Amino acid sequence: MAKSPAHEAPVVHAGDVHLLVVEDDDSIAEPMVEGLERAGFTVQRVATGSAALAALSTANLVLLDLGLPDMDGSEVCRRARATSDVPIIIVSARGDESERVLGLELGADDYLVKPFGMRELVARVRAVSRRGMPANDAPATQRVDAVEIDRRTRRVTVEGAELALSPKEFDLLSLLAEDPGAVVSRQQIMDEVWDSHWYGPTKTLDVHIASLRKKLGDPGFIETVRSVGFRLRHP
Ligand code: CA
Repeated sequence: MAKSPAHEAPVVHAGDVHLLVVEDDDSIAEPMVEGLERAGFTVQRVATGSAALAALSTANLVLLDLGLPDMDGSEVCRRARATSDVPIIIVSARGDESERVLGLELGADDYLVKPFGMRELVARVRAVSRRGMPANDAPATQRVDAVEIDRRTRRVTVEGAELALSPKEFDLLSLLAEDPGAVVSRQQIMDEVWDSHWYGPTKTLDVHIASLRKKLGDPGFIETVRSVGFRLRHP
């Protein structure tokens, strides 16, 4: 039987995630939208609950303030759930446990208390959108040039020879391979391969990149994009 080309499931990238930011306060909404766009998301912002419900069908994920001028965010959440499974993250200054529990009972997927850091917000959005969209899963096996990645068994082979990668090296390669040629920022790598609570030196990333390049035996396979991040050489 002829060898068929490797099947590659569609990968959903940050730019394909349409975030709906529901926030009436410009001083919160503006930096939020800016930060999310910088992280690669497509963002639409509305300032009322009724505008949020009207825009719901085009959103892949909703960031919902509770204190809105026309109706409470909890009401928006309740109404949204009547017609939609879109992931909802409540973003509110109300941090009481009872408020959080109520929000989650109304069908929100996560609850973030203001004030929050941009990194935390982006990490939560990524985590929730991964949960919400099975299509976001990278393909189980993937070939990029001579490198074959098997995410099920976490094995990497080059021209059939298996590489001995550390768990972080594997995660790093797997992340870069989700979209060969696309730049992945240092921040995104730190968030996804280490975790959003990593406060150590980011030099550890350079050490892993260097080691990975050496093991791959082709230093040009992973390209450095100065002061931004890294990408796999476009196949
Ligand atoms: Ca508000």
